[in-house]
Amino acid sequence: MPTVKPKVDLSDFPTGVTFRQRCTVGKALDALKPDQREKAVAALSSMDITHRAISSVLSKWSGITVRESTIGRHRRKGCACE
Ligand SMILES: [Zn+2]
Repeated sequence: MPTVKPKVDLSDFPTGVTFRQRCTVGKALDALKPDQREKAVAALSSMDITHRAISSVLSKWSGITVRESTIGRHRRKGCACE
């Protein structure tokens, strides 16, 4: 008689969609004043501006530390931000 293994409960592991959380870029943008957010969003879509420059300004404005790598992921839309 074959052994029946118990079905593994994977509910602790979020699936692909829910795993994509809003990143710190999104959180930092939420913390900005409307005019700052407008500039930051424009900077994010301008490829002339480096991840480093955005990381520096966004961290200063929002008080939230935003890593360059997070900026990169946000720009590639690898996060769950709009
Ligand atoms: Zn994001």
